[in-house]
Amino acid sequence: MRSSLEEKHVSGHERIVKDSEIESTLLELYKRGSRKDFDLLNIKLQKITQPIKYLERTLKIENLNFNDYKEANEFAMELICKKTFIPKNVLNNIIYLVHSGCGIGKNMRGAMVVNQQGKRLEKDKEKGIRTSMVDFVNRNKVLEILKEKGFTERTLDALALSTKNLSFEGMLAEYCISDEPDYITGYVAVDGIYYRITPLKKEGNFFGGRIYFVKNDVDIDTLYYYLKNEPVLIKDIQV
Ligand code: AMP
Repeated sequence: MRSSLEEKHVSGHERIVKDSEIESTLLELYKRGSRKDFDLLNIKLQKITQPIKYLERTLKIENLNFNDYKEANEFAMELICKKTFIPKNVLNNIIYLVHSGCGIGKNMRGAMVVNQQGKRLEKDKEKGIRTSMVDFVNRNKVLEILKEKGFTERTLDALALSTKNLSFEGMLAEYCISDEPDYITGYVAVDGIYYRITPLKKEGNFFGGRIYFVKNDVDIDTLYYYLKNEPVLIKDIQV
């Protein structure tokens, strides 16, 4: 589902479901899209023909709070440096990019891809790479568990995305901040853990984005194909 207003993207969402759940899912997607004002809303259905990869469980959630976004980013950088060996000053410049318009003065639709030398690898620097084709075997059950722990559907979606991302062999870590100015929680995913960090960005900042940190020897076409095209279903959650 994708909605827009005056040709500007407003919201988007994707599901992987069985035939028998199509009707109810269409309604859910419509409801989700219509929470925000739009003048165009598209819902597209696509049959999955390729084999589905099943993952046993999501990354494990660690919820962390900091005094301010600078302190939080220091912690985030420590995690990423330890895993990627990218020098801190180089990493700092890369992370600064998502806080300030990704070098193009606006938000990218997808993520930046950065290797251990701090080099950007995405094929299109405006679009970035978009992860799709990921869902839960039983989404409602997982959502219920998360809600009981005080998390929201937003965490569910981000958790699914980052779980698929980190299941790619060449992926070392992920960094994410929202592009919504009032949503200041972000995350770093590394070594099986989803560090949900508040606040990871400055309140009121309209910029946001994702960075995928990959190994130097990653094959970029294989990475794109896996993240975009290979269907992944996650069975369970770790909280
Ligand atoms: P969101 O988590 O929806 O607030 O998105 C934050 C940023 O992450 C966006 O501005 C995009 O740059 C990026 N992003 C959103 N969705 C995806 C996706 N499916 N794959 C890769 N990057 C994404």
